[in-house]
Amino acid sequence: MRTVLDARTSSRYATRGRSGIHSVLDVETALATADTAARLRDQLAAGERLSGPAARRALTAATQAPRFEGRIVPRTFATKARTYLERDGTVLFDNPDALLICAFKHDTALCEPDSGATAPRQYGCRPGCANTVRTDTHARQLRESASEPGQLANRLPPPVARRLRANADRLHDTAQPHDTTAQTAEAP
Ligand code: SF4
Repeated sequence: MRTVLDARTSSRYATRGRSGIHSVLDVETALATADTAARLRDQLAAGERLSGPAARRALTAATQAPRFEGRIVPRTFATKARTYLERDGTVLFDNPDALLICAFKHDTALCEPDSGATAPRQYGCRPGCANTVRTDTHARQLRESASEPGQLANRLPPPVARRLRANADRLHDTAQPHDTTAQTAEAP
């Protein structure tokens, strides 16, 4: 079973109600987050390191999350999906726009989720959030994202070039702490 929507889309609607289409979206969101946990588990097994304030929680979540690949999803799964998403602090949301994994904990989320929401507002993701986790892959992607505007800036008028360089610097600065703090799954 592959998820149809990613959690950025499905969780936006799934936070608003709990019947009809929303139960379907709960299922999509739960499956997407389980995919994220499974991918992280595979990355850790391949030796990737983790950084960020929620790295320990993410490690626990990755090792404990169920795999749903190849399973038929029965109607009763909607209730299980809702319960799964209510495990505040141990559900992992992939956020490819911000190049991070969000180990969503409602009380510490900087994206101002709705009251009682079981998913973050990923489009409102803010730097410095205590739910942030990054892998070696994220750090590499941040640097790759920085290199393009950095090179483009050399060919553009100064005001535009300054903005692009500032953006490239911001991406580099976001990646830099990963190098000094990242740890493998085996680290104490
Ligand atoms: S601000 Fe925090 S809780 Fe919200 S999406 Fe970003 S990392 Fe997750």
